[in-house]
Amino acid sequence: MKKISILGSTGSIGTQTLDVVRKNPDKFKVVAISANSSVDLLLEQIIEFKPKYVAVYDEASTKNLKERIPSHINIEVLSGMEGLKTISSLDEIDVLLTAIVGMIGLVPTLCAIRNGKAIALANKETLVTAGKLVMGEAKKYNVDILPVDSEHSAIFQCLNGEKNKNIDKIILTASGGPFRGKSKEELLNVTKNEALKHPNWSMGRKISIDSSTLMNKGLEVIEAKWLFDVDYKDIDVVVHPQSIIHSMVQFNDSSIIAQMGCPDMRLPIQYALTYPDRMLNDFERLDFAKFSKFTFEKPDLETFPCLKLAFDCLKMGGTYCTVLNAANEVLVNEFLEDKIGFYDIPYYIEKTLQAHNSIEDPTLEEILEVDRWAREYVKKSIK
Ligand code: NAD
Ligand code: MG
Repeated sequence: MKKISILGSTGSIGTQTLDVVRKNPDKFKVVAISANSSVDLLLEQIIEFKPKYVAVYDEASTKNLKERIPSHINIEVLSGMEGLKTISSLDEIDVLLTAIVGMIGLVPTLCAIRNGKAIALANKETLVTAGKLVMGEAKKYNVDILPVDSEHSAIFQCLNGEKNKNIDKIILTASGGPFRGKSKEELLNVTKNEALKHPNWSMGRKISIDSSTLMNKGLEVIEAKWLFDVDYKDIDVVVHPQSIIHSMVQFNDSSIIAQMGCPDMRLPIQYALTYPDRMLNDFERLDFAKFSKFTFEKPDLETFPCLKLAFDCLKMGGTYCTVLNAANEVLVNEFLEDKIGFYDIPYYIEKTLQAHNSIEDPTLEEILEVDRWAREYVKKSIK
């Protein structure tokens, strides 16, 4: 029985994780769940999964939840960052599944690593903002970081069994998002509702906007660099609109291995929880006869400058990726509130990067300080 704690159980990845648990009650037990403020859904999850702990980040929502939990249910209700840290490092858990959105997941994830917990990582912002630090700690505490992001799960599966990896390059596939094939002129005035319509995946709002700007792929390039310890020059992005090949690895003898399947996040979630085993499920099987064509194209870096900015930050190193992530989190939020336009996102990220004095090998405190600075700088610039 694998005992799981979930950061962000009410979101897209969180609820799909609970679906995997629901179908396999003999294999998985949810010990703790958490969310920012979605009290209604947390209450339903408490009644169904009977976790021993729930953590709610928002204080008013914590109070609200406490008042509504039926008296016959025995559960410890925690609050704030302390609550997230506590449920990430419980003695009784085997794995922390990080389905929280944003770099707010960094501190609880480090807490889990330092307590020897395996990490099933969906929360890519944590590796973007502090990849070197997180991977260093994982090595020190001998902890597995198992990817949940579909591309990284694909690469992880392609590498299975290869002892001395012999990687020539990693080929990350991208769907191209809802605006693939459009020009900059056509996208100048797009609205958030157009940006939120992803062709192949249904996801949370932040990652949906990131997919429309191709920042999601940029964040994934950075995530891949840290997870698989490769040089940025050895990571290629190729647009594959069908989203059937989830990513590939080319080895030094020119052989390429790809991982494929119907787009369903429950597969990489399940694999991160059962690795190194595989487990029978009832997910849709791919019917090749339905796909007469697999197509591939180069990403359009002029129309989607965010992807180029992410490569630039990796190349420059230091704390540039921390700034890229922080500025992007603020700007995506502003775009979702109709306060800025689509191209203001790359514009203000670039402006913030230019104003930044990077730190080589930052400590956690320095990363948190750079993150704070970047958020403030962006907010001031917009005004
Ligand atoms: P979402 O917006 O649907 O859910 C986010 C979850 O985080 C919610 O449960 C929310 O309550 C919780 N949360 C947010 N702020 C919090 C806080 N301060 N304290 C505690 N909980 C907080 O997002 P999502 O689409 O599920 O994405 C989650 C993460 O997984 C992101 O990092 C995303 O990039 C990554 N990811 C998502 C998908 C996908 O298909 N949705 C695929 C790959 C990777
Ligand atoms: Mg992905």
